[in-house]
Amino acid sequence: MSLVQEINKRKTFGIIAHPDAGKTTLTEKLLLFGGAIQEAGAVKSNKIKKGATSDFMEIERQRGISVATSVLAFEYRGKKINILDTPGHKDFAEDTFRTLTAVDSAIVVIDVAKGVEEQTIKLVEVCRMRKIPMLVFINKMDREGKDAFDLMDEVEQKLGLQVTPLSWPIGIGATFKGIYNIWEKNINIFSGDNKQKISESTEIEDLANPELDDLIGSDYATNLRNEIDLINGVYPEFDMQEYMDGNLQPVFFGSALNNFGVRELLNAFVDIAPTPQAKETDLRIVEPYENKFSGFVFKIHANMDPKHRDRLAFVKIVSGKFERNKNYYHVRQDKNMKFAAPNAFFADKKEVIDESYAGDIVGFHDTGNFRIGDTLTEGEKFTFKGIPAFSPEHFRYINNADPMKSKQLEKGIDQLMDEGVAQLFILEMNNRKVIGTVGALQYEVIQYRLEHEYSAKATYEPFSVHKACWVEVENENSEEFLEFKRVKQRYLARDKYNQLVFLADSPFTIQMTQDKFPSVKLHFVSEF
Ligand code: GDP
Repeated sequence: MSLVQEINKRKTFGIIAHPDAGKTTLTEKLLLFGGAIQEAGAVKSNKIKKGATSDFMEIERQRGISVATSVLAFEYRGKKINILDTPGHKDFAEDTFRTLTAVDSAIVVIDVAKGVEEQTIKLVEVCRMRKIPMLVFINKMDREGKDAFDLMDEVEQKLGLQVTPLSWPIGIGATFKGIYNIWEKNINIFSGDNKQKISESTEIEDLANPELDDLIGSDYATNLRNEIDLINGVYPEFDMQEYMDGNLQPVFFGSALNNFGVRELLNAFVDIAPTPQAKETDLRIVEPYENKFSGFVFKIHANMDPKHRDRLAFVKIVSGKFERNKNYYHVRQDKNMKFAAPNAFFADKKEVIDESYAGDIVGFHDTGNFRIGDTLTEGEKFTFKGIPAFSPEHFRYINNADPMKSKQLEKGIDQLMDEGVAQLFILEMNNRKVIGTVGALQYEVIQYRLEHEYSAKATYEPFSVHKACWVEVENENSEEFLEFKRVKQRYLARDKYNQLVFLADSPFTIQMTQDKFPSVKLHFVSEF
């Protein structure tokens, strides 16, 4: 197969959902279609159960599972589909944001009873900002829930999307009869008694066909005809370009648990979801079909076994073909590296591979060379963009509690930050270290891991910060900037990339600072 054919086979996406909407269940059913797994229960849920947030064993378990399910690949209808796992738990949102830099499209799962939930809103916003094409799957149609039209409205309003249904439910909950597949023009009748079997569907080219009345009863048939008429009047027709540009989101209905409506989703996904896309660097746009390999690190996972300190760096291949044992250029470190045992990921295992193509994810065993956002090329010195840090929500000083172990602490903090567990800010004034996190849970994880993996003891001290603001200034020698630095010196810090950050203690301070120093721009994201 040629390079272009290989790349065009690939579809790499992420499923985003609020916890419990059915992401794990849907993933599992998708893998069943690909024949990648034989039975349900093969995909482990990676969520932290409620109330277990301080249970360290639970955290460890979570880390183990999330390695196993980080990337799940399967083949379906001649395509190679890579699913990237995105933790739904809000304390791991940062991890999910980064994973979304490596997907070419996304499927948004929504619980029909709960509608649009908090995490869905945040994650969809990130996809919208990046113009990632999205499909929406309304799940749990076997349960009582919201009216389909109301839900479509809710999705439009709360998620800011422009939707159009490509499948439509017939009844809901106790009266759920099945799905009309608008995309392929057929009907799938729900029996609800065979969760593993892939159900058969009946072609219905024309809804006026009386066969429909025989199939679902004339009341449901009339209702469906009316609803489809209404849909045709209200929602725009599906348009490939609009979907690809992130301006139109097709909606599907079903029940993941009953493996119902999933095939409709998957078939449409295979037809329309994008192949690997071009990506921006600081120098130029890199196209997937370029002959030379390039890729970037979007995730780093530590080994759970403290005796084996190696980590797994996940690289999304953006262009060309990756080969085992070939020399590649690590741009940030300005050095060549080769990889003797690169891993590729399959549904339930990882394996050493010889080659991989744009769209794929490869895993490298790493002893500390990589950091999230690092770029690998065949020699060209560009860096991929779009892997920004967001302002954390929580901030605390971190202190060394064991003076004999300061080196270990230093190294531990350094490596955990490379993994993206949290963000480190070093105050300019006194070099004190401040750790910023998305959720309070991370502080426990860090403390625990420092102790168990690096034999270092850390304590925290409160530090009242509202937001980290990355500072942009045109003239570093201007009077205004020097004055800003003088007035705010106690709150100025450097992030891991040595960018200047202003740790503002309140929204009011941010406002005041902007008013007083208009030439100093403050950003809540590290890339601007
Ligand atoms: P995740 O947190 O998004 O990964 O959600 P899970 O896939 O773990 O599902 C959460 C719960 O919803 C589990 O108990 C599932 O069995 C259940 N569930 C998932 N899909 C459906 C569905 O279609 N119908 C019903 N009734 N329950 C479902």
